[in-house]
Amino acid sequence: MPADLVIVYHRQPYEEVEEGGKIVFKENKSPNGIVPTLKGFFGRVEKGSWVAWKLSDTPATPDFERVVEIEDSYGKYSVSRLPLTEAQVKSFYHVTSKEAFWPILHSFKEKYDYDPVDWPTFREVNWAFAEAAAAEAAEGAVVWVHDYNLWLVPGYLRKLRPDLRISFFHHTPFPSADMFNVLPWRREIVESLLSADVVGFHIPRYAANFVGVAESLFDIETGPRQPVNPDFIKEHVALSERRVAEQITYNGHDVYVQASPVGVDLDYIQSKAGTDETTRKARQIREDLGDVAMILSVGRTDYTKGGSDQLMSFERILDENPDLHGKVRLMHVSVSANRNMTVYEGIQNEIEATVGRINGRFGSFDWTPVTLMSRAIPFDELVAYYRAADVAWITPLADGMNLVAKEFAACRSDNRGALVLSEFAGAAIEMGSAILANPFSHKSMDRALLQALNMSEEEQEHRMKHMRQTIAKYDIKAWAEDQMKGFSGKSGPL
Ligand code: UDP
Repeated sequence: MPADLVIVYHRQPYEEVEEGGKIVFKENKSPNGIVPTLKGFFGRVEKGSWVAWKLSDTPATPDFERVVEIEDSYGKYSVSRLPLTEAQVKSFYHVTSKEAFWPILHSFKEKYDYDPVDWPTFREVNWAFAEAAAAEAAEGAVVWVHDYNLWLVPGYLRKLRPDLRISFFHHTPFPSADMFNVLPWRREIVESLLSADVVGFHIPRYAANFVGVAESLFDIETGPRQPVNPDFIKEHVALSERRVAEQITYNGHDVYVQASPVGVDLDYIQSKAGTDETTRKARQIREDLGDVAMILSVGRTDYTKGGSDQLMSFERILDENPDLHGKVRLMHVSVSANRNMTVYEGIQNEIEATVGRINGRFGSFDWTPVTLMSRAIPFDELVAYYRAADVAWITPLADGMNLVAKEFAACRSDNRGALVLSEFAGAAIEMGSAILANPFSHKSMDRALLQALNMSEEEQEHRMKHMRQTIAKYDIKAWAEDQMKGFSGKSGPL
């Protein structure tokens, strides 16, 4: 049966494991995260389908079923698995997307690497995704495409199936024309996006940047610049934007440019944070720490997350504040990337070296200033760390949204704890009550952490209440409603 909603996302929506010689599909352990969120949309339609890639040595004759029917707690849906060779995956995902697109999207021109890009392979893989989606979609269905590694899919899909409603969501930042137009494939990418019906972003700034890029490359017409939702305007946040055009018309085709911040599932996270098990774990963490203030930092090992800069700020603070020795402890969770890319290896080494230096310089038999964790902490355990921390220190150099910051606040129904947040994380436009830090300024970084460590309980309560109100208003359900409005062609709530 053809699907009313087709989600095109590079990863499969379950874990495929072998049990007793048989392949079984296991639902993701935690409903937290983007994949379970997207699967939740299948509950809203009669028939859903998901398109993702799967490794194959012989893509013309793969040794697996191309389309499987899944039934799990999200309902019944099909998964169309696109067979790709290891070389294709490396080229389209690890090289073109991660070495060329990713640095530009996050405004790191100096990390951009053009040379290894094989553009014909990128096109070929995107074409294959478009064909697979076209094969799944019913007449007039919604096809929802996710993220920059599938940038050419809307254009191909429009050619294959003019009847479809195509929505494309960016999970990353989107830079201004000065930065984006570094990409030599800029016209092809933007022309593809302009054939979608909806192009979505987390925040108005990224939407405004996209409109600017489109204007720089094509003769487009834009709708009136609409005032941004006042909840997303903070005088002191670098990413705030006041007015954004919501519509682009190109070659007679209207594109709705949507800004809608992904939220967290507040109810689920709160229920997890409130269990006896979490309370017990959080208490254990505090007991193990002893009488020190716990600073928690959580992110992936990626140059955009600013892990090294943060550690160097911690080193300066310890240098300049001997009274803090033995009184604070930083849990630095930096989940290492499991791919062999030199750029990630370099950052991992830098982080390990800096942690080693700090512990060597300041640590003693009784006190280790920094604990580094490079493995991913399961979400159930992470909520206990969120509950136990005195300060969450989240200072990416650039970040599309940053869910960790929202999850921390979601866990703190006790209205305790201080959040230090980079003003270059998309989440900052909603969480202006955090202590905002500029990770490019030593002074700002150091001052923000010291302010958080010294914050009174009254001030913690005041700020936390405010942040929690906002993340409750713009939780994952609000995002889902916005997306549905985009699918049905009604204007969203910018
Ligand atoms: N996360 C986790 N365990 C870890 C570190 C992170 O489960 O050890 C989860 C975290 O709860 C969050 C996600 O990974 O939901 C990271 O999302 P975020 O938007 O902060 O950053 P991204 O990695 O998508 O850039």
